[in-house]
Amino acid sequence: MHLSKRVLVTGGAGFIGSYLCERLLEDGHDVICVDNLFTGTRMNIRHLLDHRNFEFMRHDVTFPLYVEVDEIYNMACPASPIHYQFDPVQTTKTSVHGAINMLGLAKRVRAKILQASTSEVYGDPEVHPQPEEYWGRVNPIGPRSCYDEGKRCAETLFFDYWRQHQLRIKVARIFNTYGPRMHPNDGRVVSNFIVQALRGEPISIYGEGQQTRSFCYVDDLVAGLMGLMATGDDVIGPINLGNPGEFTMLELAQMVIELTGSSSTLEFKPLPTDDPKQRKPVITKAKEVIGWEPKVALKEGLGKTIRYFDDLLSDRLNA
Ligand code: NAD
Ligand code: UDP
Ligand code: UDP
Repeated sequence: MHLSKRVLVTGGAGFIGSYLCERLLEDGHDVICVDNLFTGTRMNIRHLLDHRNFEFMRHDVTFPLYVEVDEIYNMACPASPIHYQFDPVQTTKTSVHGAINMLGLAKRVRAKILQASTSEVYGDPEVHPQPEEYWGRVNPIGPRSCYDEGKRCAETLFFDYWRQHQLRIKVARIFNTYGPRMHPNDGRVVSNFIVQALRGEPISIYGEGQQTRSFCYVDDLVAGLMGLMATGDDVIGPINLGNPGEFTMLELAQMVIELTGSSSTLEFKPLPTDDPKQRKPVITKAKEVIGWEPKVALKEGLGKTIRYFDDLLSDRLNA
C-alpha cells in the first residue's frame, strides 16, 4: 500500500533540493519546501509552484519553524566555497542553528529526519578512499571551516538527539554532485569548466590539476537520499553517497573540452587554501543497506549538464 506523507525539504529551492521536491511529488507526497533563497532560486522550482501538493515557504532555518510533517530532509546550506565563504558566520549558523531547529521540530512532531552532510567532514584526507569510519582531517580555523566544522557539528547534534531523545535520524555524507540547475556562478569545478568551455574562455585549473574528485550525477544522488530515508529505523548512518569514479581536474577539463568541442585552452591558477588533494567514497554500506549505487557515468552526466548550460547561456531556459 502506498501511503502519502507530508515531507519538509529545507533548501528545497536549491540545486539538489529542487530535484528532491520533484521526485517526492512524483511519488504522491505533500511537499513543503522551505528556503531563504540565498543560493536557491524560484526558477529551480517554478515548474512545481502550481502543483497542488507543493507549498513554498520563504524562511531562514536559523529561526524556529512550526509545521506538521512526517519526514524532514535537511538540505539547507550553501554548498559551493564561493557562497559558503561569502558570509561564513551565517554558514555556521545555518548548519548548527538550522540543525537544532529542525531536530527540535522533528522531536516535537516525531518526524524522521535526514541530514545532508558532506564528504567535507573528511577534510583533506590521509585515508583513501574514504570509508565512513574515517574521522577526517579538518582545519578548524581556515576559510573552509565554517562549512566543514558546521557540518561536523550538525552530525554531532543529530547523533546526540538520537542518543538523548531517541529521534529517528539518517545522516548522508554526500560527495561532489553535479547536474542541470547548478548555479552558473557558484565557482564549482563542473559548472566553471562547462561555462568556460561553452564561451570559449580559458579553463581555470587550480594548482596543477592533479587533485582528484568523485562526481555523482544529481538523479543518482536523489535516489540515494530517498532510499536512505526509506530504510528501517535501525539505519542511522553516516552513509557515504557518491560515485566512486575518481578523476583529476585535468582529466575533467579534457573531458569537458572534448564533449563541448570547445577550443578553450587551459589556464593554471593558484590552489585555494586547504583544498583537499583527493576524494573518493567507499560505498559498500550504501550498497548493502540501501541497495543503492550510482548508474550515470561521468561522460553521460556531463553531456546532460552541458546541454542545460548551453540552453541557459543562450537564454532558451528563460523563454
Ligand atoms: P545549493 O546552494 O544549491 O542549495 C542549498 C539551498 O539552501 C539553497 O536553495 C539556499 O538558498 C538554501 N539555504 C541556504 N541557507 C539557508 C537558510 N539559512 N535557511 C533556508 N535555506 C537556506 O546547494 P546544493 O548543492 O543543492 O546542496 C544541498 C545540500 O547538500 C547542502 O546542505 C550541501 O551542504 C549538501 N551537499 C552538497 C554537495 C554538492 O556537491 N552539491 C556535496 C555535499 C553536500
Ligand atoms: N523548534 C522549532 N520547531 C518546533 C520545535 C522546536 O523550530 O516545532 C526549535 C526551538 O526553537 C528550539 C529548537 O528547535 O530552539 C530545539 O528544540 P528542543 O525541543 O530540542 O529544545 P528546547 O526547546 O528545549 O531548546
Ligand atoms: N577547481 C578548479 N577550477 C575551478 C574550480 C575548482 O580546478 O574553476 C578545483 C578545486 O580547486 C578543487 C576541485 O576543483 O580541487 C573541486 O572544487 P569544487 O569547488 O567544485 O568542490 P570541492 O572543493 O568542494 O570538492
